Amino acid sequence: MSDSDYCMIAETPRPPKADGPPYAECVQCREPTEYPESYKGITLCPVCEWREAERTACSG
Ligand SMILES: [Zn+2]
Repeated sequence: MSDSDYCMIAETPRPPKADGPPYAECVQCREPTEYPESYKGITLCPVCEWREAERTACSG
């Protein structure tokens, strides 16, 4: 297993976006996300989602 294989696994699928309110809260900053309240799982607002992607992104 090489480093590039690990990068492939790190890519996570996006949950479906809501058609309208109520939106789920961001699990990190409690801001409303773009995802429906009924969505089961970790919901992140666009800002935290971007930070998370930065954190988990492959850097070389
Ligand atoms: Zn957030």
